[in-house]
Amino acid sequence: MASFAPLAPSPPTSTAEARLSLTELLLACDAARPCAEAVVEWLTVHARAAAAACVAREEPGGRLVCLAARGLSEAQCASLEPQQDDTRHPLVEALTRDAPHFLPSPRPPLPRGETAEGLFTVPLGHAGSPPVGLLLVWASGPALPSEVSWVASHAGPFLARQATGPRGTGGSDLFRRIIDAVVDPILLTDLVGHPHLANARAEALLVANPGSSEGRRRAVRLNQRVLAAALASTASGGVPGPSRREVPLVDPVEGMDLLFELVTQRVYEPDGREAMVSVLRNVTDLGRATQALGESYRRLRATEREARSERHRLDRVLDSVADPIILSAPSGGTVMMNDPAEKLFTPPPNAGRPAQRRVRTNHATFASFLANLLGAEGSLRWRGQLSLVDPASGATRPMEAVASKVMGDGGELTGIVTLFHDRSEALEKARLLERLREVSTLLEARVQVATAELAEQNEKLRRQAIQLEQASAAKSQFLANMSHEFRTPLNAILGYTNMLLQGVSGELSPAQKRNLTRIDSNGRHLLEVINEILDITRIEAGRMPLNLSDFRIPELLQEVMAEMDPIIARSKLAVSTHLAPRLPQVHGDRQKVKQVVLNLLSNALKFTHEGAVKVSAEYAPSTAMLSISVSDTGIGIDPAQQEKIFEDFQQVDSSPTRAYGGTGLGLSICRRLATMLGGRVSLQSTPGQGSTFSLHFPRRTRRT
Ligand code: ADP
Repeated sequence: MASFAPLAPSPPTSTAEARLSLTELLLACDAARPCAEAVVEWLTVHARAAAAACVAREEPGGRLVCLAARGLSEAQCASLEPQQDDTRHPLVEALTRDAPHFLPSPRPPLPRGETAEGLFTVPLGHAGSPPVGLLLVWASGPALPSEVSWVASHAGPFLARQATGPRGTGGSDLFRRIIDAVVDPILLTDLVGHPHLANARAEALLVANPGSSEGRRRAVRLNQRVLAAALASTASGGVPGPSRREVPLVDPVEGMDLLFELVTQRVYEPDGREAMVSVLRNVTDLGRATQALGESYRRLRATEREARSERHRLDRVLDSVADPIILSAPSGGTVMMNDPAEKLFTPPPNAGRPAQRRVRTNHATFASFLANLLGAEGSLRWRGQLSLVDPASGATRPMEAVASKVMGDGGELTGIVTLFHDRSEALEKARLLERLREVSTLLEARVQVATAELAEQNEKLRRQAIQLEQASAAKSQFLANMSHEFRTPLNAILGYTNMLLQGVSGELSPAQKRNLTRIDSNGRHLLEVINEILDITRIEAGRMPLNLSDFRIPELLQEVMAEMDPIIARSKLAVSTHLAPRLPQVHGDRQKVKQVVLNLLSNALKFTHEGAVKVSAEYAPSTAMLSISVSDTGIGIDPAQQEKIFEDFQQVDSSPTRAYGGTGLGLSICRRLATMLGGRVSLQSTPGQGSTFSLHFPRRTRRT
């Protein structure tokens, strides 16, 4: 941006020519540095100055920098550039004066070999304006050499015009105006962040005049530090292209925090040095907006997440309900529905035309139902019976539907929830209940009829029972009478037969004797039958009372054995008696016990051809029961007959050609007698091996 004019002054022929030559050079210069170079060179040649230098304020910052020097070492040149806050430096003080000043003991001193009495500090700039720099001339004082005075008055305005870039990089007024017109701060700096050029916006942020307030100076210092650090770090990054980063700065006027985007690009200055062009873009509002946007976005996402989870929860709630549910928009359009509702209001997969038609019908039915609620002003709920159709099967699904309005916070209608309840089951139950009632009524009528019939039958049976009882009593009475009537003549027959057999009426021939014996035998059998029938009828007619007394078993068995002795003797069987020790005294009907044992022993002897018959008696204290058993080694009884033989007139062999005599009444009488004693008769028998009949009765018989 700055062009450098070659410094090639031709040797002056006279003072006027020398001045003209310098003036031409200054006019040709378009930058401060070559201008300063020309002035310093000219002074050392034409003003006989031991050394000369030109220092100027660098913008931004106002720091003094050395633009050109002659006759000074590098260190001396450096000492001409005081620190920014060094307000007591003689050159800084010199800048505050608007007239030349002579310092007799100059700092820095001149190099060895050179002589100079002092140092003139001459302000440079437009007349009436603060000086932009100083012309420093080491020469004899105290009067200012005229050549120095002339140079200062002519070169000052040039320098003042071009000192915006004190190191000679400053551009033209146009350039300055252009960059000042840019609203973003622009800077040209070296690689460590020292500014070479800054536009007005950048100066507002980074420059404070000595007269500025303390707050502004502090803000500027802070900004300079932050920016220098950012630039140094960008420079060390070595990125070839433009680099971007955000830097937080402070507004020196308002004190507000600002956020800038720092866009930096490396460039080469005309002298070949690397520099950096930085543009600061105020993104404070953008940052705030971005932050607000991010916050809104985060809130939106959170709300979205909440809504999604709420929707998910609602879906699960709806799906967990077995009845169909539909959520409709205020317009009546369906928003969502659960699975059971989908089965009614959406066609099944691969649905044919009939299924699709049924779905349409269901929608139409539902829409007209909803219209009732939407049309009913002020009503929040509507209940109705709907007849829907199962799209898949075509079966009618009678439904009860309840639609409820969902109102928003502002009282506006936000949706409608409709809950369906399938009434098929309820209707079926009602139908079954009705049928049940009918059947129950029918049954009741039948039961009444049957009960009446039963009562009639019962009455008949009761009468029959009475008649039977009477008949039985009459029969028993008849049998008892008849037996008695039979027995009297029969005893007479037997008595006379016996007398005849004993020869009371004279000697009998063997044939007469044989026939009379047969009469006697048959008569006895008949008597036996009559006696037994008489016993049974007596028992049944209740005419055989219990005669209770105390007796002992051994004596009773002894009597039985004695009575049976003739038959035992005839039988040639080994008959024995076995009595258990400590048999107790018995309180019971002795006659009846004896009759049972006699009968059992008589049967054992009758049905045993060889072997033994054993009569035994024992007592069970735990049950207080006595048992008298008769065991034989006789023919035994088939298991199929063992129960039958206890019935009246029942015999194992009842054929006319049977081998054993008897009436078939003995055991039935035994059972009846045992029952009267409070006991029973048991039987164990194996055909061909023998039988054991036992009478079990209590030690003490009680009257019933
Ligand atoms: P009866 O002996 O007069 O025929 P019972 O009532 O005493 O009448 O006996 C009925 C039948 O029981 C007998 O006819 C006989 O067939 C059978 N019976 C009774 N006792 C015995 C026994 N000890 N051994 C084999 N059979 C018997």
